[in-house]
Amino acid sequence: MQMMQLNDNCYVFMSSVNVGFIHRENQGMLIDAAIDRSAIRKVVRQLDEKNLPITHLLITHAHADHYGGAAYLVKQYGVKVIAPTFERAIIENPILEPTYLFSGNDPLDELRNKFLEGPEVKVDIEIEEGYQKVDKFEFEAIATPGHSYHQLAINIYDTLYAADSYFGKEEIKKHKIPYITSVDKAVKSLEKLKTVQVKGAVPGHGPYEQQFVETIEANIDYHQMLLEKVYGEIAEKPTVSHEEIVARMCTMMKVKSDLLGPFLLFRTAVTAYITALINEDRIEHYIKDFRWIFKVKEEGS
Ligand SMILES: [Zn+2]
Repeated sequence: MQMMQLNDNCYVFMSSVNVGFIHRENQGMLIDAAIDRSAIRKVVRQLDEKNLPITHLLITHAHADHYGGAAYLVKQYGVKVIAPTFERAIIENPILEPTYLFSGNDPLDELRNKFLEGPEVKVDIEIEEGYQKVDKFEFEAIATPGHSYHQLAINIYDTLYAADSYFGKEEIKKHKIPYITSVDKAVKSLEKLKTVQVKGAVPGHGPYEQQFVETIEANIDYHQMLLEKVYGEIAEKPTVSHEEIVARMCTMMKVKSDLLGPFLLFRTAVTAYITALINEDRIEHYIKDFRWIFKVKEEGS
């Protein structure tokens, strides 16, 4: 966890999941809490060494790798927890994430791991999109749905903490099929972030950059590329089932998914591209022989 100071007030701890930190007078607000107690301890240890205050925690979205360390921060530092509306429900009832990924069934025990379910935490302040003032911190919360239902990016002191709305260029390649719940919303969120006037931005996974617009554009292109690949796979045969299209995309993109957890994440992301094609009226879908089937829409049909 390498600590990087961005300006008088803003810091970021770079790791596989970044953690932000805002300092103002006698208050300090962490942005996200890393995946678990051991990861967030590497952050707070450095803040303690520099005598920086730890009083608030803003969770950008309810994915376990961003809030898993939150319970420790509450217990150890008594931080005030701030989270977006809706995401709050999951942070306070964390079994919801493995539940929705498991199509609503009670999740198998193997899905109840730290990657999909963090320790529950009570949210003190629920926030929405727009200007926010929480104690000494004033910032703009920007709704960036598409990766998570009500994810918020934070614009504060000339810095954009973009959460998982986009990934660093290397990180997209590593994830291969980045997790999304809606392509349309993900791309609209990115278009919105391109217009934010700040000195630099840092995503949840990837480096701090001043030229972040370029990286956001690369993310938009990547979503577009995956959308066309899904369409191409559906167009290749007269019809294709949901199970088959998920398997074909995972094979083509060479993702690593030999466990149920990662498989369900990829299945959700591929389904987001499929639903985008349905919403764009480019493919049709129906149930046949108890399978969910897709086919390309004929011109004029
Ligand atoms: Zn996430």
